[in-house]
Amino acid sequence: MELEGLKRCSSELERFNVKVVVTDRHRQVGKWIRENWTQFSYHIKYTGMCKKLDSLAKKKSLSILKDWVQSLKCHLYWCALSSQTPEEKKQKWLPCVDHLQNVHDSCLHPPITREKVWLLPGILFYFFRLVELLTKTMFVNDVMKMSHLGQTSGVEAFHSVVNHFVPKMYYFSYKGMKSRIILAAMHYNENAGRPQKSGGYCLRKILVDTILLYILNQIFA
Ligand SMILES: [Zn+2]
Repeated sequence: MELEGLKRCSSELERFNVKVVVTDRHRQVGKWIRENWTQFSYHIKYTGMCKKLDSLAKKKSLSILKDWVQSLKCHLYWCALSSQTPEEKKQKWLPCVDHLQNVHDSCLHPPITREKVWLLPGILFYFFRLVELLTKTMFVNDVMKMSHLGQTSGVEAFHSVVNHFVPKMYYFSYKGMKSRIILAAMHYNENAGRPQKSGGYCLRKILVDTILLYILNQIFA
């Protein structure tokens, strides 16, 4: 479905001055872009890689990874944003395997003073399996392709607005769905990037109230 969507919007995209394409780890999409859009620089988004780490941690034999998933995600993000070349990303990613064993010869961080539960090196099956997966050629190749230019959080925020206007649990006609998606786009354009409310103290991020002027504009247009 993703590939078909990309093919359908490819002619539209060519009208814009697109230089970089960032997608998730969809194999067919990546292959199609490499073969058909050779003029674009192709990257993989950070959240696409995080999904892979989450799926590894869900495996019974790798449940030990659960405690390390968040740290590995942060490391992955840092590798992507602090590097300019694919090789630099690879060289920053691979030492994470040593780091998990409390070996920091290749790490760039300052000395760790807080207590951490390190993984035991080399004696358990899970460890071999974990190292194999984190250093697998396919996974490392994807790390090298990770985007250091931009992420897709804006598109994901828009998708969550679309889910609000077009809940997946209900059936809508084509016309109904199209109208609701247009409404979602108007709502998103009007309210994306709202600033945080000022004054008071709260542990949660509270944004200023949403603006619904686009409804009035449509009614009185
Ligand atoms: Zn380290």
